[in-house]
Amino acid sequence: MKKVAVYPGSFDPITRGHMDIIKRSSEIFDKLIIGVLNNSSKKSWFSVEERISMIKEVISENEKIEITSFSGLLVDFMKIKKADVIIRGLRAVSDYEYELQLALTNSILSDNNIETIFLPASREGLYLSSSIVKEVALLGGDISGFIDERLEKIIKNKVIETRRGSND
Ligand code: ADP
Repeated sequence: MKKVAVYPGSFDPITRGHMDIIKRSSEIFDKLIIGVLNNSSKKSWFSVEERISMIKEVISENEKIEITSFSGLLVDFMKIKKADVIIRGLRAVSDYEYELQLALTNSILSDNNIETIFLPASREGLYLSSSIVKEVALLGGDISGFIDERLEKIIKNKVIETRRGSND
């Protein structure tokens, strides 16, 4: 039976840390679905379409990888996709409590049919987050170490847009 995993997240925007988790997990499973959360209650910089297009820009085409948005409960999305493993990346200790809570909740909601597998962040990704990228970008810092170079321009344009918005 094919092992299908889902890597859910906001990817606002996708960082080198996310890219590392995608690469490693796609080598473990038969299929990896990158589930981009479309949640109106969580404020994101980029629309779900923009986030998906950035992922497509940096993840080379691979028949094992599918990129799609979802809203609502992750376990419902997984049922539709016939997936039974959730991939999450674990960075510093600060991720641990939230991730454990999430893993247990999804396990209960799926009658123990869904397993969460954690991959440790790489050394470079350990303290890297989408929020840090946005903060550094807003302050005019160099983000090239944090995201793929193909996304730099898109992020810089968003900074200009955000600044304009806050000056209105
Ligand atoms: P969420 O809003 O669900 O936390 P994120 O896009 O921030 O979505 O992260 C998705 C997943 O990727 C989470 O499991 C997060 O811990 C993991 N992750 C984020 N950044 C990194 C990184 N630099 N290295 C490894 N895992 C990461």
